[in-house]
Amino acid sequence: MLDYAAPMSALVLFSGGQDSAVCLAWALARFDRVETVGFDYGQRHRVELEVRTAFREKLVAAYPRAEGRLGEDHLLDLSVLGAISDTALTRDAEIAMIASGLPNTFVPGRNLLFLTFAAAIAYRRGIKHIVTGVCETDYSGYPDCRDDTIKALQVAINLGMESRLVLETPLMWIDKAATWAMAHDLGGRGLVELIVEDTHSCYLGDRSKRHDWGYGCGTCPACDLRAAGYRRWAEGGPNRAAP
Ligand code: ZN
Repeated sequence: MLDYAAPMSALVLFSGGQDSAVCLAWALARFDRVETVGFDYGQRHRVELEVRTAFREKLVAAYPRAEGRLGEDHLLDLSVLGAISDTALTRDAEIAMIASGLPNTFVPGRNLLFLTFAAAIAYRRGIKHIVTGVCETDYSGYPDCRDDTIKALQVAINLGMESRLVLETPLMWIDKAATWAMAHDLGGRGLVELIVEDTHSCYLGDRSKRHDWGYGCGTCPACDLRAAGYRRWAEGGPNRAAP
């Protein structure tokens, strides 16, 4: 059995988007040492990868819980996923995904792969907890975001690696409005502002337009979800968008 050098440690799957940014803040509030991992798989919206570094740097200033806790960042090149998605998707599936607004680089089971790679890093680093922003509530349609999928994968990983890794999913049962509320609860207006300004969700990678909820084209499904969630939170009553 793996002997954990740091049991109160976490590795956060940090893409540079809103959900994973809130997960990073959540982890920093709970664990003594927090590292991040990102995946470069040839995504269309590369801007998400580009905002990661700036967000991490500014987080230390904007969020006191990050100081002394935020550790290394790991960026893995998974460009092979682009080749898989080109060859593995049926024509029907490809049309369906485009119609639903998902990126056409989508790889079935992508989160299974990401979490398995993250588990390999965590194992090597002696990290016990792996944090991911997957969610059933504002359901993306990805079956690998489901709670049962994650629980089954945790069992498989631990059997396969003779480990006791824990897959943490703090956003699993909350919607986007509650995700903004969680950011506010964790780090107040400063953390909310940092997430608005320095994370990215838009599928088109558009950072030319600034809305109250952040940058984006304002019309793609990712922008719709982020904007609608922000609005519900902002209009939702006490301790919401008010400073
Ligand atoms: Zn957009």
